[in-house]
Amino acid sequence: MLVITNWKMNPLSLSQAYKLLDFYQKLNYKIWVAPPFLFLQDLIKKYPDFIFGVQNIYFEKRGAYTGEISPWMVKNIGGKFTIINHSERRKLKEDLKIANLKLKSALKANLISVVCFGEDNIIKDKQSLIKEWNKEYKILFRDLNINSFKNKIIIAYEPSWAISTAKIGPVPKEQVVLFINWIKKRFRGKILYGGSVFPENIENYLDISLDGFLIGSHSLKPKNFRIIIEKIKKFSIIK
Ligand code: PEP
Repeated sequence: MLVITNWKMNPLSLSQAYKLLDFYQKLNYKIWVAPPFLFLQDLIKKYPDFIFGVQNIYFEKRGAYTGEISPWMVKNIGGKFTIINHSERRKLKEDLKIANLKLKSALKANLISVVCFGEDNIIKDKQSLIKEWNKEYKILFRDLNINSFKNKIIIAYEPSWAISTAKIGPVPKEQVVLFINWIKKRFRGKILYGGSVFPENIENYLDISLDGFLIGSHSLKPKNFRIIIEKIKKFSIIK
């Protein structure tokens, strides 16, 4: 199972990032890591056994875009993937049209895109939920045949309301299954779940047809992250 960690704006120093990766190394599991940009180059050199990527990119290749990072820059220093359309970017007013441009740009730069997908608010009615997903899908993947990039796009079902900081997640298992069934009719690549994945609930999601998890806050808590990885490993052996 694929495990991608989103460190968000943590930790505050490179030495703390080393500490966390030294710990990850002991887990003996292939983990993909999205640290802050500033640490990326150093971590890529020091930890060749991990796959590193970024939490965000800009959609232009180069030019007068103060403060932005080009996907080609990420690629050229050895980054392998970028997260796109994370709900914390959407909170900063990044909309689906921008996410669509970013996705096209990442594909051109040959970076793998971990595309976050999902409704912003809790929707209990199934038909309304599917309507919302259809709407999002249309804008996010406009002008793209995503199946022709099925090795370059990973879709993470991660509704904003389910992220740990929202304190009301995770998504009930039946709803994740509904999403998987819906998205599999449209996309043949890897599907992950993200949103308040904790040691106490990871088992809920292990026996449904997911390819892995996108994990935020608990990827920064060694004790908890160890339990999550151990449970995933145990499940993979049984399977
Ligand atoms: C995330 O930031 O992508 C995420 C899933 O966060 P958390 O695990 O903290 O909900």
